[in-house]
Amino acid sequence: MGFGSSWLLSLQCLFSQFRIAHMTKLKIVPHPHPALRWKSREITRIDAELKAMVDQMFELMYEARGVGLAANQVALPYRLFVINPTGDPQEKEEEMVFLNPRISRRRGSEDGEEGCLSLPEICAPVTRATLITIDAFDLSGQQFELELEDFPARVVQHEYDHLEGVLFPDRIAEEHTRELQPLMDDLVHQFRARQEAGEEQSDEELKAELRRLEKLRT
Ligand SMILES: [Zn+2]
Repeated sequence: MGFGSSWLLSLQCLFSQFRIAHMTKLKIVPHPHPALRWKSREITRIDAELKAMVDQMFELMYEARGVGLAANQVALPYRLFVINPTGDPQEKEEEMVFLNPRISRRRGSEDGEEGCLSLPEICAPVTRATLITIDAFDLSGQQFELELEDFPARVVQHEYDHLEGVLFPDRIAEEHTRELQPLMDDLVHQFRARQEAGEEQSDEELKAELRRLEKLRT
């Protein structure tokens, strides 16, 4: 191998390190970040970078004391979410990754209190199916099908909604919507203020980035 090619190799290596390092900047984005209203597209490629993103999503989820996190919530426009219904980082065997999921059956219905890491300090009762059948791919590219009930089924339905650009306040009774509206308005106000101060990109810039990321992996 000549100097030229090893130089090229180290450049590629640097580039891939840069790309992984870039991923360390993932953060949970709040309402009304445009990613939260993005209808995500299916992932067509599983690689080390995607696995690094998933690792980070689990880390962010645990830091924020959540039980589930969808890719939209870290401004990634991919059909992907992670859950651990125990919320306990020690309970690794409860962790699940869903790539390109599809809920094929929903049965029963039950109200339960929900919150969302993208809507800090907001919670309300949401009606969800009690039993669902879902199929998805795991990180090794294997397809699987699961039946889930009660709380894990609720978590999955909440995260699945994110991939469709749906937030839980879209699904709540009108009397609760009125209660939540001031809190939602407050989040919008804070986000717009950060944009005006130049601490957050404009909606147009954020959407352009989502389209760029979409081209890379869907
Ligand atoms: Zn959520």
